[in-house]
Amino acid sequence: MASPLSYSSLDDIQDAVSCLRVNFDTGKSRDLAFRKFQIQQLYDLVKNNEERLYEALAKDMNKPRSEALSGDIAPVLEECLYFLDNLDRLAKDEKVKPRLGMHAMDTVKVRRDPLGVVLVIGCWNYPVQLSLVPLVGAIAAGNSVILKLSEVSAHTAALLTELIPRYLNSSFYRVLNGAVEETTYLLEQKFDHIFYTGSPNVGKIVMNAASKHLTGVTLELGGKSPAVITPEADMQTVANRIGFGKFYNCGQICIAVDYVLCPADRLDDFVSSFSKTVKEWFGEDPKNSKDYARLVSVRHVDRIAAMIENRKSGTIQFGGQVDRDERYIAPTLITGVNFNDDVLMGDEIFGPVLPVITYNSLDEAISLIKRNAPPLVLYVFSKKQKLIEQGVCVNDTLMHQAEYSLPFGGIGNSGVGNYHGHRSFRTFTHERGILQKKQKMEFLNKVRYPPYNSTRDAV
Ligand code: NAD
Repeated sequence: MASPLSYSSLDDIQDAVSCLRVNFDTGKSRDLAFRKFQIQQLYDLVKNNEERLYEALAKDMNKPRSEALSGDIAPVLEECLYFLDNLDRLAKDEKVKPRLGMHAMDTVKVRRDPLGVVLVIGCWNYPVQLSLVPLVGAIAAGNSVILKLSEVSAHTAALLTELIPRYLNSSFYRVLNGAVEETTYLLEQKFDHIFYTGSPNVGKIVMNAASKHLTGVTLELGGKSPAVITPEADMQTVANRIGFGKFYNCGQICIAVDYVLCPADRLDDFVSSFSKTVKEWFGEDPKNSKDYARLVSVRHVDRIAAMIENRKSGTIQFGGQVDRDERYIAPTLITGVNFNDDVLMGDEIFGPVLPVITYNSLDEAISLIKRNAPPLVLYVFSKKQKLIEQGVCVNDTLMHQAEYSLPFGGIGNSGVGNYHGHRSFRTFTHERGILQKKQKMEFLNKVRYPPYNSTRDAV
């Protein structure tokens, strides 16, 4: 099928960047009333076109409406409302108590300046949330923004490309589209900040390109996020919550449960509880369930199918069926996986396949986790306080990302920086430290000026 998305030409890219640079310098995007109007417009864009967004998300990955609402639409609306309510407070200069006695009479304060022309590169799995939530933060912070949508979720990208210029001021906010060639060219341009969501591999390319201009970056990447079950777990509850963290959007989520660490003597219990969960949610044949999404592309179907086929260990407890034409992979549970298996335990799975590794002691489980690069999330299912304190999301999955009062972001292989709510405002602003003195009482400054004498040196 022909893609509904047209890519930007290299001339369009260059023109957009230089145009936004000139317009940013007018200072208009810093005006608070202007920022609020644009945020309200973005809210209206989503609200007025909700049905069309659901349709586009369904075309891209058969995203169930309720998942599209909770994972794409609601977070953007909520973030717009947050900034409309809080922008005056966030943008206000912050008075600071001086530490030097000689500044007691002066004004010492911090101002949050916009960074300038910001590039946001969105990701395809939540193409509305992961493009528009960073965009709201960047607008709220007073920047001009180039938004590069993901070409992989082409229907949603085409719709946003049509809608954004109708709602937002194109002199300050532009949408660009393209694949590797266009993104490579885009990254050669000079930006004042780059906010990228995607894989660690491309994250490195982005950081490398940014370093040429000494541009700051925020990288929202991925990784293999484990779920550790402890022996006393209430297994049916745990199975439901892990199922939610694995099959929401068919596992195409950066914070999906990538693999499970289960106590060896609770494995049978986990398998039967997890099978029950999957049957209850998606029926005997999940392919017929309206609540089960599809992989976004054949490339991803092939990638995950190869993982199942080429694995060196593990028994398929259920699932494993692949229908390439329908971009379908069944919910799949594989037990007895060797942690050192080079396929299932290598790259992030990013699909509906759940490997289970058994352990005999918690120390063993923890040392296995530490062998991998820092995951974006560590899920812990436990009633034991000591372990609870180690987790990022405890006794649940995914919901910490939806809680926008928390910072969201990883470290190392899973990212640089964070965002959501006031953290987005911080991410997209520069803290300018300001000292304002008066031209009075010059005699007090004599102590700082040459010629120095020993008494003055001591000061
Ligand atoms: P990707 O990083 O491979 O591709 C993202 C975009 O980068 C593409 O749209 C493409 O235009 C561009 N690109 C690809 N190769 C390029 C190259 N060589 N040079 C320049 N640009 C290039 O993304 P993906 O692998 O399809 O996405 C899945 C990954 O994203 C997973 O690792 C997942 O965990 C991560 N992710 C993270 C978050 C988060 O919030 N932390 C959210 C969603 C996805």
